[in-house]
Amino acid sequence: MYLDKDIVKEGAPSLNEKCERVRLPLSKNDLEVAKNLFQYLIISENEEMCTKYGIRPGVGIAAPQVGQNIRMFAMNATDFLDEKQTKYTFLVINPEIIYRSPEMTYLPGGEGCLSVTRPTEGLVTPRNLKIIAKCSLLDMGTLKIKTVKLTLFGYPAIVFQHEYDHLDGILYTSKMFKIKDLDEKIQPLYTINEDNEEEDED
Ligand SMILES: [Zn+2]
Repeated sequence: MYLDKDIVKEGAPSLNEKCERVRLPLSKNDLEVAKNLFQYLIISENEEMCTKYGIRPGVGIAAPQVGQNIRMFAMNATDFLDEKQTKYTFLVINPEIIYRSPEMTYLPGGEGCLSVTRPTEGLVTPRNLKIIAKCSLLDMGTLKIKTVKLTLFGYPAIVFQHEYDHLDGILYTSKMFKIKDLDEKIQPLYTINEDNEEEDED
């Protein structure tokens, strides 16, 4: 399993490189990477495991963050604004965002990243409120791959865009703004309730 020492940190040139498309069917190496990325997120959901292994909780992790410059990422994000608390858990391969809504939003508490260790509070990253992406998803049970069109809105769309950026060598730290400098049309995804701050990193 990946530990914190395996996570490539901000400043490493490889995090700024465009990743290569994944060849299908998956090679042995790429399948291992997929399994380990996915496992990291599942393990990191458990606070005790995070303490035990010294890892940070994450809702997304991209292959370049573990030194594999291929277009693959895992996400495991609960849409906490949705009544049903829908979970968006995917192992995504060769994604292509084919639609971005003109409406923009941002996480009012700012984003976080397993590769970024410096504080970035007070700075936010504008994202498209809705996206449609074409990608291959690896079913972690059957290990079958299917090509789908995902329509994502709000929080899962933000997580997806953060991870997608990693595949193009872009960190959220290169797109941070002060809220007061943003176009007033860009509204926060939600209003922060101080008793219930999200601490997950992606
Ligand atoms: Zn990240």
